[in-house]
Amino acid sequence: MAHGTALYLSSYSVLIVMKECLFYTRLGDGSVRCDLCAHRCTLASGQRGLCKSRRNAGGVMVSDVYGHPCALAVDPVEKKPLAMFYPGTRCLSMACSGCNLRCLNCQNHDISQAAPCEVHSSDVSPEAMVGMALERGLPSIAYTYTEPLTYIEYVLEIARLAHRHGLYNILVSAGYVNAQPLNELAPLIDAANIDLKAFDDMIYVRQCGAHLQPVLDTLLTLKAAGTHLEITHLLIPQVNDDMTMFNAMCRWLVDNGLAGCPLHLTRFFPCYRMLDSIATPRSTLLEARDIALRAGIEHVFLGNI
Ligand code: SF4
Repeated sequence: MAHGTALYLSSYSVLIVMKECLFYTRLGDGSVRCDLCAHRCTLASGQRGLCKSRRNAGGVMVSDVYGHPCALAVDPVEKKPLAMFYPGTRCLSMACSGCNLRCLNCQNHDISQAAPCEVHSSDVSPEAMVGMALERGLPSIAYTYTEPLTYIEYVLEIARLAHRHGLYNILVSAGYVNAQPLNELAPLIDAANIDLKAFDDMIYVRQCGAHLQPVLDTLLTLKAAGTHLEITHLLIPQVNDDMTMFNAMCRWLVDNGLAGCPLHLTRFFPCYRMLDSIATPRSTLLEARDIALRAGIEHVFLGNI
């Protein structure tokens, strides 16, 4: 999903205010281990995590993006994509730089793969973020475009305030997060679209620098938490368009109580590090839709087509 037109990017943040992270362990020798995602980065003082937004500042793990969104826009909720969560409404969409995946096909690599000092950002407190949504009469705030879980401290504070003001929280994520932080966040998330990129661990490793199982665990946790859950699956030629594997993925979803979650099958176009690839043929999407419906998925949507 390409990020939308900027709504409010007033300044370049010269002063980056650090925020101590949640979910990390001090290892006693000045190094820290981040417990937020399955990478579990161990960082000596001064080192930055793989997601680029979290680092060890003298034995304290800090987030450099807390309060500094690099993208703000108003989007139709269908663009997240969410097909069955208050359709026809719009949401305040925000992002901070950073991601804990390294997808070769990332559409938002200019902000997802950037360090905080490499992007233009604004200073927006959680109160101001909620105020922006309220002033514009928007019913929801979407944490989107990059990987919101890597700035979870900011999301948690905005989401709590948003709920107090009667707003909904929407998480658009690759779902690569450990159980404890997700359990803390899940009760605040009203709707989520999770990107399930393939049903094969080696494809996750090669294409995204991550693993499959934590993403499957996230789907089950969100479902169990009562979150309105939709799933996006981008079909990329010669990467994850094996229909036997796709069928196995659909069967796993059905067998695990996720048949009712809308499944968005989206078309890939060459981008970022996959400029030599071809766009997904329409026939692949149509075949995948038939397989998903036959497997028992109740709502299948085609995107980018
Ligand atoms: S959230 Fe970032 S710093 Fe923490 S383990 Fe994951 S990639 Fe590493």
